[in-house]
Amino acid sequence: MKKILIANRGEIAIRIIRACHELHLKTVAIYAKEDEYGVHRFRADEAYLVGAGKKPIDAYLDMDDIIRIAKMTGADAIHPGYGFLSENEEFAQKCEDAGIIFIGPTVRQLQMFGDKVEAKEVAHAAGLETIPGTENPVKSLEEVQNFAHKYGYPIMVKAAMGGGGRGMRVVNSDDELPDAYNRARSEAKQSFGDDELYVEKYLENPKHIEVQILGDKHGNVLHLFERDCSVQRRHQKVIEFAPSIVLSDDRRKEICDAAVRLAKSIHYQNAGTVEFLVTDDAFYFIEVNPRIQVEHTITEMITEIDLVQSQILVAAGKDLFKDLHLPKQEDMEYRGCAIQCRITTEDSENNFMPDTGKIETYRSPGGFGVRLDGGNAYAGAVITPYFDSLLVKVCVQAKTFGEAVDKMDRVLGEFRIRGVKTNIEFMRNVINNPVFRAGAAHTTFIDNTPELFK
Ligand code: ADP
Repeated sequence: MKKILIANRGEIAIRIIRACHELHLKTVAIYAKEDEYGVHRFRADEAYLVGAGKKPIDAYLDMDDIIRIAKMTGADAIHPGYGFLSENEEFAQKCEDAGIIFIGPTVRQLQMFGDKVEAKEVAHAAGLETIPGTENPVKSLEEVQNFAHKYGYPIMVKAAMGGGGRGMRVVNSDDELPDAYNRARSEAKQSFGDDELYVEKYLENPKHIEVQILGDKHGNVLHLFERDCSVQRRHQKVIEFAPSIVLSDDRRKEICDAAVRLAKSIHYQNAGTVEFLVTDDAFYFIEVNPRIQVEHTITEMITEIDLVQSQILVAAGKDLFKDLHLPKQEDMEYRGCAIQCRITTEDSENNFMPDTGKIETYRSPGGFGVRLDGGNAYAGAVITPYFDSLLVKVCVQAKTFGEAVDKMDRVLGEFRIRGVKTNIEFMRNVINNPVFRAGAAHTTFIDNTPELFK
């Protein structure tokens, strides 16, 4: 492998380019017309306009044009990042057909995990416990009602092809059901082009714990411990930290081993995340994200393993142990605690409406134990309405969770961003809240804590 095309934009494109340069690999960026001044474009060795004439997001989804650019530039591999085409099996197949390595799992594995109902079957077969739910996609409102009467409310209606917290609805009673069902259906159709739904028992106040997995082409699978992503707003992650501070060592091992068992059962390749909802006495598989995740950074900080470089190397056929020299599972260790906040250009005083405009002032924090992964974050940058509103990811690491929280508070306080609204003050409210500081935040913490929004 000598040259990699990065089929993404913003912070994750820059993150991947950095990994490539450290591995002495050449990089090719692609950019939509609206990203003409996108930093990722200038960080790569070469950059090309993609999807000319298409809408901004559609440009990054233009599979044939991306493959054309890869062939034209002689790229050996494509890294899809997260979002966009990262979980698209058709794209992975097209890469394979063109003789280009797709840096991710196999086409079949993408298929398997793209459909959450099938994913649950695979998990079940590997002996993992799943949340009681319908075994097949539901065909009618009546079927959902029957499920609710059998298992009791509350239940959750979810899009089979869903992602990003969309297409899911909590239902508390028969009265709420028709409306929730129809809304989830139309949201699923609109967001994912498929209105297939399934139903699960709704767990009240679980924690979202996910395990980082890395597999190679030789059947080796390692876990790199867990992340706690319970701090969510409307089922979307806001703050993540690693490791969890409430799991006992035994519980941690049980959950991480379960994730490895699932991955090994299908010879999982590349980086992936096995997600669980955890209650006081059980842990339930919910889904696998077969790609690098936004919050991979905190796992890198506590394990000192570069996940993006690892992805590239295993895609090139390298062995986790013989070539990457990773420790055996029983020798794998983590150090301290890392926290990530996703700084967005969203106005937390106005229902998190994305803000746009020119960044007039940009002063970023720094110091010991601080990591920033930014996209177009600098004075003079113009924030457009075309893409997601993630501006910069800020991570800190310290010996303990408490010290990391203090550091994060200091770091957030050092930011000076003027010209566009951000969620920084809101983030400070969250991390200074006693529930968060006690490590007691569950998935509904933000949504049920109105004082955070003041
Ligand atoms: P997505 O793929 O859209 O991210 P997930 O299935 O990963 O959806 O779920 C996202 C979040 O939604 C979870 O972290 C959790 O907060 C909530 N959630 C999902 N399923 C359930 C459930 N059965 N009970 C309670 N909360 C749930």
